[in-house]
Amino acid sequence: MAFCTNCGSEMPEDAVFCSNCGKAVNDAPKENAATTIQPQAGEKNTALTGLVLGIVTIIVGPFAAAYVFTVFVSVMTGIAGIIVSAAALSRNKKAGQPIRMAIWGLILSIIGLVLTIYVFISMYL
Ligand SMILES: [Zn+2]
Repeated sequence: MAFCTNCGSEMPEDAVFCSNCGKAVNDAPKENAATTIQPQAGEKNTALTGLVLGIVTIIVGPFAAAYVFTVFVSVMTGIAGIIVSAAALSRNKKAGQPIRMAIWGLILSIIGLVLTIYVFISMYL
């Protein structure tokens, strides 16, 4: 699978134009094409870690307010999910699947964190 050098979306190896942004494949400067970042196994794992942290945060968040310890754990996984997902996003600009996982990881981590803090505040303050 090849990736568009303009918008980063996936396209067939023999594509002449990008189906997403319409950029001609041959328009890409040679040095740019040579340095196109391919999704690495490690980068995919980073994105997956962020996604898992986000899912854990959003599941634990609503129940976390019952104990100070679980609130602490949920806030930590939320912050870790945001950091890991943001790191995966910044390193996977051209990749298809890892960037989608990283975006979901970021969204779920933020919602999970907000949910945790909201439930905690509404119960104790
Ligand atoms: Zn494109």
